[in-house]
Amino acid sequence: MLIPQYSDSLIKIAIQHDINIIEIGQAEEWYKLRVHRVHLMRYFDNPEGLKLAKEEIEATQDLYMPIMSQWLINKEAIRERYSNREINFSTIIITVRNKLEADKLIAKGLYFGGYNHTVDRYWETGPAEICPKCLEYGHSSFRGCSITPKCYICAGNHEANEHKCPIIGCSTPVEKACIHLPIKCINCKGPHFAISNNCPKKRAAIEEAKKKKQDEKRLEESRRRIQVVIPKKPDAITTPKSAETQEMELDDLSQTEAQLQAQLQSN
Ligand SMILES: [Zn+2]
Ligand SMILES: [Zn+2]
Ligand SMILES: [Zn+2]
Ligand SMILES: [Zn+2]
Repeated sequence: MLIPQYSDSLIKIAIQHDINIIEIGQAEEWYKLRVHRVHLMRYFDNPEGLKLAKEEIEATQDLYMPIMSQWLINKEAIRERYSNREINFSTIIITVRNKLEADKLIAKGLYFGGYNHTVDRYWETGPAEICPKCLEYGHSSFRGCSITPKCYICAGNHEANEHKCPIIGCSTPVEKACIHLPIKCINCKGPHFAISNNCPKKRAAIEEAKKKKQDEKRLEESRRRIQVVIPKKPDAITTPKSAETQEMELDDLSQTEAQLQAQLQSN
């Protein structure tokens, strides 16, 4: 997290105001937004461009962004298309601290640098990313989720922003946990928010993603080693694909690769 070394003492202070607080900083992960049609000339040409954007946004919007924004697609790809004059704008990702700020920006857009920019939610994908709506891991689409929403506070069939205590007279506000409806993680049934970094299921997902990455790296390295051994045929088309086919013909060498592949698949 952003401030792991402080979070324990922050929690102690926060608990004095709200006994239901069990962790701090998690929510920031939740409100990543895409800001569209950001001017490349102003914010990409300038090496300090994203810093400039942050300053402008914070000055005009009364909005604090806890972490630096980033370009949605990789910078090299932007540079190439920009220098070919295919694009003049691109999308950045910003992070805001709470749903209220996020909803406001999605509804009104984000004004900075003389223009209003449309804003929508950014859904992260990947094996270690929990879906903010259905709380499942490993969605592979950026478009959002169509599965029934689940609550990360109580595991009920509603989104956490609609979480409300059913007891009449309970003064706990919407989206906050209270003693009447226990905190329950939908994934491991433990007494923590489903988005919590303490969830064993989340830890396992992170570990698995890490392992997969390492295996892929090993596979990639073994490929590179094998490629060095193969003498290039003069008439061979030098695409990565043809190199791959050649590798597979070498029985003994490709065995290592086959083992790695099997390992990858079994994960
Ligand atoms: Zn989902
Ligand atoms: Zn709930
Ligand atoms: Zn209650
Ligand atoms: Zn859990």
